[in-house]
Amino acid sequence: MASTSPGCRIKFWGVRGSIPTPGPGTVEYGGNTSCVEVRADGQILILDAGTGIRPLGLALAAEFQQSPMDITVLISHTHWDHIQGFPFFTPAYNPRNKVRILGYEGARAGLATTLAGQMESPYFPIALQEMPGNILIEELKELSFEVGEVKAAAWFMNHPGIAVGYRLFTSGGSVAYVPDNEPFGRQGVSHGVTEAGETSAFAMDEKLIEFIREADVLIIDSQYNEAEYDAHVGWGHGCVDDVVDLAIEACVKHLFLFHHDPCHDDAFVSDMAASARKRAAAQGSALKIDAAREGEEVLLP
Ligand SMILES: [Zn+2]
Ligand SMILES: [Zn+2]
Repeated sequence: MASTSPGCRIKFWGVRGSIPTPGPGTVEYGGNTSCVEVRADGQILILDAGTGIRPLGLALAAEFQQSPMDITVLISHTHWDHIQGFPFFTPAYNPRNKVRILGYEGARAGLATTLAGQMESPYFPIALQEMPGNILIEELKELSFEVGEVKAAAWFMNHPGIAVGYRLFTSGGSVAYVPDNEPFGRQGVSHGVTEAGETSAFAMDEKLIEFIREADVLIIDSQYNEAEYDAHVGWGHGCVDDVVDLAIEACVKHLFLFHHDPCHDDAFVSDMAASARKRAAAQGSALKIDAAREGEEVLLP
């Protein structure tokens, strides 16, 4: 049975982008790929199924023991770092459990086909349809939907293929999860597109700002610093400076830098967070900023 306590608990199980990054350089922030647990209004919600979903699954199994679980997994997109942990998600092997996977179209083939693809026999010994948990994969068509009493919204991100961010409105507060996104504005300004292109780029950022507006917690792709970003324009990932500006403009309360680059060790990630705080302070903003850290919990009232 799910927790019925009021409020909203967010826990980071994987904060890394692209590929798992274990080793002495990442012990502080963690090396698992994208996975965030949200417990609110009696629901167990999981944002993405990167490798962080493996330890989350073990923790859920230990917590619930013989009790059935009803779990909803929201997939932002089917790039590997957002789905690769699912074959190792223990609750999906227990026939008592229900695991509902929601997302938008996987890269052309459809969500169910893409998720099953990584478990075909050349890659994994158990097929998705052989997992004994009651797994239901639903491709969402609408941009707003409900998971129990949690209202959810999705918005398409600037990232190769189809990728969405999610906004969850819980009784404890709201969470915006934007794991892979490149803000449009800087592409327009720095890289010589036409005036019309710049205008439409800013209009697209305006839509993102609306999507994240006044979120209590914003978890967002901040993979690059400014120098790195210049070498990665068009890769679909964010520059930390842009992310800070967007969060301030959207009146977000607490910003978590997310999708840390596999080349960034703990010291580098800490420096990025420090420079992000400096940038916000220089604008007189009260925005709270942290780099997302595996194992960290955030409680909303
Ligand atoms: Zn990613
Ligand atoms: Zn991606």
